[in-house]
Amino acid sequence: MPPTGIQDSLRGRGVRLTRQRRILLDLIDGSGLHLDAESLYQLAKEKDPKLNRVTVYRSLKLFKEGGLVDELDLMHHSGDQHYYETRLKQEHAHVICLRCGRIEEYFGEPLREMRRQVELDLGFEVQLTRTEIGGYCPHCKALRAQETKVGQAVPPAAN
Ligand SMILES: [Zn+2]
Ligand SMILES: [Zn+2]
Repeated sequence: MPPTGIQDSLRGRGVRLTRQRRILLDLIDGSGLHLDAESLYQLAKEKDPKLNRVTVYRSLKLFKEGGLVDELDLMHHSGDQHYYETRLKQEHAHVICLRCGRIEEYFGEPLREMRRQVELDLGFEVQLTRTEIGGYCPHCKALRAQETKVGQAVPPAAN
């Protein structure tokens, strides 16, 4: 099933798309990023200086309740803010670097397989899944290996 436009999706859910809400949705949907409320506000302000934080928070709540956006905590890698992305994307897992905070998305059959297994084994009708994997990205992995080596290379203190 091809993903439908966010506007159709909104209309279908009876959410009125005001100009400011459209700016916010376009940013969440179009940036391809996982934005927190503050970054979203900063970006939105550039498009409409009259847009304020209250509107951002209210709209996020509305989008969330309408099932349009997912709220993620991404392992709280940089504090306790939440991140937002639209639900129109294909199911994916978030892979977070615990050192630099880089976020990758993993799309793959195993995710759908896990959903099927949960439905089969536990008898649930799965409505949403959220998969997060924490680790070290290739860059940080290399840095960590170097750090360990340097640590080991330190000669024992002479007596
Ligand atoms: Zn990293
Ligand atoms: Zn994502």
